[in-house]
Amino acid sequence: MELGAHVSTAGGPPLAPARGRDIGCDCIQIFTRNQRTWKAKPVTTEEADAFRAARTKAGIGAVMSHASYLINLAAKDPDKREKSLRALGEELERCHLLGIELLNFHPGAHMERGLEAGIGAIADALNTLCRLHPEKTGVTLVLENVAGQGSTVGADFGELAAILERVERPERFGVCVDTAHAFAAGYALHTEAGWDEMWRHFDETVGLSRLVGLHLNDSKVPHASRKDRHALIGRGEIGPAAFRRIVTDPRTRDIPMFLETPAGPDGWRLELEWLRAAAAGEDRPLPEIGETGVAL
Ligand SMILES: [Zn+2]
Ligand SMILES: [Zn+2]
Repeated sequence: MELGAHVSTAGGPPLAPARGRDIGCDCIQIFTRNQRTWKAKPVTTEEADAFRAARTKAGIGAVMSHASYLINLAAKDPDKREKSLRALGEELERCHLLGIELLNFHPGAHMERGLEAGIGAIADALNTLCRLHPEKTGVTLVLENVAGQGSTVGADFGELAAILERVERPERFGVCVDTAHAFAAGYALHTEAGWDEMWRHFDETVGLSRLVGLHLNDSKVPHASRKDRHALIGRGEIGPAAFRRIVTDPRTRDIPMFLETPAGPDGWRLELEWLRAAAAGEDRPLPEIGETGVAL
């Protein structure tokens, strides 16, 4: 079992592994760049070496990078699409240099062009990306399910499967399921029957063998609201039972899990402790945490 959180890379990626270890992370998610701007500094050899050494020293297992939110592979404007493809290529390059094996990104938003056109545009862009970077196969390209806000593609697992059916190199891809996004998209994971139904549908469409990461977030917004608002574990509309299930269900318990809740580092430490206790079958009360961080 690997439990972790999205930790800060302030001061550079080499500082992230120790930050994760300090709060009890087995695995970490990071941004390899400032994700609010298009411009990114290239990774230097020194920085890459320092990151690998820091990761080994801190004993961090899986590392996932979350790509910039500005990227939209299905953008209507060809310039924006081109810019997005270039930016995702740079994200891939940085992961390759840093030795990060999982690159997570949101599939895109089709604007008013329709779902089919969106799925096609995303698959085309991913095929171009794979052709431009044939040697970077050590980095799995990870599609994240989304809440379904606006015209975003990937709220339904069937949409992720449709993208994966059209990629030329399916072996280079994986999927990360965000619990808050799935709940907002209409999967009723707050109930036991809904939880089972969600994974049955995932297996039938994407396939459980493609599940490479989980984002653990409760939701501030109700079921099927198609909005993306992360809450503290167990304190939102999903509630604690789903998170007890996620750390014990054989379908999910061995997949690296990353918190993206608004708890902030001190709160994540407590959420990780609660999740580990839940994995051990202990029925602890939820930790008392003030919201300090900005949820992703
Ligand atoms: Zn995300
Ligand atoms: Zn997420």
